[in-house]
Amino acid sequence: MLTIEKVTKYYDKTEALSDVSVTIPSGVCYGLVGPNGAGKSTLIKIITSIIRGYEGDIAFNHKPISDQTKQQSGYVPQDIVLEENITAIGNLYLFGRIYGLKGSKLAQRTKEVLSLIGLSERSKDKVATFSGGMKRRLNIGCALMHNPELIIMDEPTVGIDPQSRQYIFQMIEELKATGKTVVYASHYMEEVERLCDYVAFLDKGKMIENGAIDELLQQYAVPSIYIKADGMALEQLEAFGSVQQRQEAFVIFTEEALPVMEKIIFYCRKNKVDVERLELVRPRLEDVFFRLTGSNLRE
Ligand code: ADP
Repeated sequence: MLTIEKVTKYYDKTEALSDVSVTIPSGVCYGLVGPNGAGKSTLIKIITSIIRGYEGDIAFNHKPISDQTKQQSGYVPQDIVLEENITAIGNLYLFGRIYGLKGSKLAQRTKEVLSLIGLSERSKDKVATFSGGMKRRLNIGCALMHNPELIIMDEPTVGIDPQSRQYIFQMIEELKATGKTVVYASHYMEEVERLCDYVAFLDKGKMIENGAIDELLQQYAVPSIYIKADGMALEQLEAFGSVQQRQEAFVIFTEEALPVMEKIIFYCRKNKVDVERLELVRPRLEDVFFRLTGSNLRE
């Protein structure tokens, strides 16, 4: 659906994006992950034609991006853009009209969007009376008024309450279920892992890696085994893999997690080791990022 090829962007002498390429298939949620300053917003602004001066090519449904792309995509900016002194409905009407909706179509779509963002009951209240999370949900609603195929969200959950965060997650699930494509920029790895099917890691303007999350986990993250046992020493576990001590417990990293787990159980039984906890630990997206960049996202 969206093909980004060799995109480079300079702000004066700062290289914000360097030769970035990625293909976003339709109907998926695609995470764009990287620390602050990685270039996520710049890439999003290029995709949405807010920034025009760049090198490289971007195609939407096999055609170069143009003003028409705007009709098929909805952009949720990082900063909330709403008219505070009018109602939620008023704001949705404003955005709907910008996209050419009017009359009963506008009224019908406004109703649908209010329900999707969970604000039907507050629709006639002024935005100034809303919490940060409600404003954020309304901001997303504005970008959905023209029912776009592609929705691009820039850090939509920064600084909001847990309830609104859940609403946003639910909204994204619903959008995905109706075949929409969502690009989700975030520096919250857990959110991306939960919501997205694919991820692109950006760091210092460069595309570090991208692909299906399951495949990246398979390729880069080593599973591990957590063991807490009375009197167990690090040396006893080194035969099973690379071991790290975590307070009173140990974590063993091994590609062969299940067979190694069996061996550990056998070893513990044979040597009458009193095991308090023994668990297989699923590799996380954070581990993939660490493996690729040598740093954690939040460092
Ligand atoms: P992210 O969204 O991942 O935090 P950005 O795309 O905002 O990253 O920024 C990428 C780089 O470009 C950073 O070094 C940032 O300082 C720089 N940058 C972003 N916007 C501007 C701008 N308007 N003028 C100059 N430099 C900018």
